[in-house]
Amino acid sequence: MLTYISTRDENLKLTPAEAIIQGLAVNGGLFVPSNLEDIKVDYKNIIQKDYLDIAEEIFTKFFPDLAREIPTIVKNSYTNKFSDESITPLIKLNNNYILELFLGPTCAFKDVALSALPNLMMAAIKKANIRDHILILTATSGDTGSAAMKGFSNVPNTSIITFYPDDGISDIQRLQMTTQEATNVTACAIKGNFDVAQSGVKEIFKSLKGLNNGVMLSSANSINIGRLVPQIVYYFSAYKQLVDNSEIKIGDEITFTVPTGNFGNIMAGWFAMKMGLPIKKLYCASNKNNVLTEFLKTGHYNKNRGFFKTTSPSMDILVSSNLERLLYYICGSENTAKYMNDLANTGEYQIEKEELEKIQEIFVGIYSNDNDGASAIDNVFQANSYLMDTHTAIAYASYKNYQDDNNSCYKNVILATASPYKFPYSVLEALKQDYSLDDKQNLIELQEVTNSAMPEQLSKIFEKKIYSKDVIHPENMRKYVEDKIAEICNNNVNK
Ligand SMILES: *Cc1c(COP(=O)(O)O)cnc(C)c1O
Repeated sequence: MLTYISTRDENLKLTPAEAIIQGLAVNGGLFVPSNLEDIKVDYKNIIQKDYLDIAEEIFTKFFPDLAREIPTIVKNSYTNKFSDESITPLIKLNNNYILELFLGPTCAFKDVALSALPNLMMAAIKKANIRDHILILTATSGDTGSAAMKGFSNVPNTSIITFYPDDGISDIQRLQMTTQEATNVTACAIKGNFDVAQSGVKEIFKSLKGLNNGVMLSSANSINIGRLVPQIVYYFSAYKQLVDNSEIKIGDEITFTVPTGNFGNIMAGWFAMKMGLPIKKLYCASNKNNVLTEFLKTGHYNKNRGFFKTTSPSMDILVSSNLERLLYYICGSENTAKYMNDLANTGEYQIEKEELEKIQEIFVGIYSNDNDGASAIDNVFQANSYLMDTHTAIAYASYKNYQDDNNSCYKNVILATASPYKFPYSVLEALKQDYSLDDKQNLIELQEVTNSAMPEQLSKIFEKKIYSKDVIHPENMRKYVEDKIAEICNNNVNK
């Protein structure tokens, strides 16, 4: 049976269900399958299936102890939640393919995983016979928050707190969190950026360890393996669609370009490759916060640099947590623990030459700045009437630039991670149109300029009541969580 271990200590072993519940190892490590042989599949067989059946197969590989529950989990997670039957449709665009991952409840790719995570977690809790209340702590660079809150809304015996940067997300992203009305979900703004929010959450995990008065902490960030696995499914789905549309033959290798922040999405691609999917390269596209571009070129990870607020805010990240999973498989747990320790103490680490070469066999770091992204949005819209969001545009521009110099002969799939309507201000600016400081106006303007309809989910967002109003300094995050735990305990006592 597949077991999970911590990236920083192979002796810390858990069942799949336990790994989903805990989210993050107590030693700060992330959970990974101990043996990659256990996740190998026959991809030729899998790509004959439709999305839900592929999901069933992959979930079962990673979470065999939940095998009996998984068919229901998959059905409940994806039926009637996405506006296209194929869940993640593939669209041909010039010589590239765009995989649209943003057709779910909050219009970003996070929905694919966060529609499933609550169901996986509930099944895992039942399996482990846990009766405690689960409090999910999440840091968000903009999109995880609303998708996680949506996913956990009114799920019995759970609550969720989402910490988001007060300054540095779009108006629409903010409203998608603050207007959610379920009483078990809360959003709280932090005076600081995503990295501050994420390290705050990790600190709370370390200091409040496990159980507090019948309240158990867990995470909905991509540090949770239950969040990563659902993202593997659409790599298979993309391959399937290419085969079905006769764009490739079964067995052909393809490449993916992934707009990257916390390295979760692209890490799912690496797992897909390890499961057997013919992937030649994974292009890791960054915005101006290009720590990963430098790391993939030199093996030197250095977060001691300026932090830029860009028009692709969900990628404004200097500490990419999921890279730790890759480091584990390439460098082993001892070196990984050492590098993570260096990162915590000095803000940087350097991996060995042989380690870097192994990583470079599959990963290529590329990046673009805001201007390149904006030109890509404009050019693609003028030429193809296809409207990209600012994150997808970073991937598109970075890959095009790379392709101009290198001329790769493989079919390339660009992961489209958000609807352009989540960032109407930046998209209008890219299209050289008038825009206002009021995103409500911008949404309408964007519809008119592009003659496309905004997603229904966003059309009423400005009329909704605001429920979450808290803004705190990062040093008060722990107290905020402790107060929440006390509140949960009181409510339970009162019942
Ligand atoms: C979260 C997010 C990303 C980055 O994904 P990671 O898994 O963190 O690398 C890219 N684009 C959008 C729109 C996102 O919400």
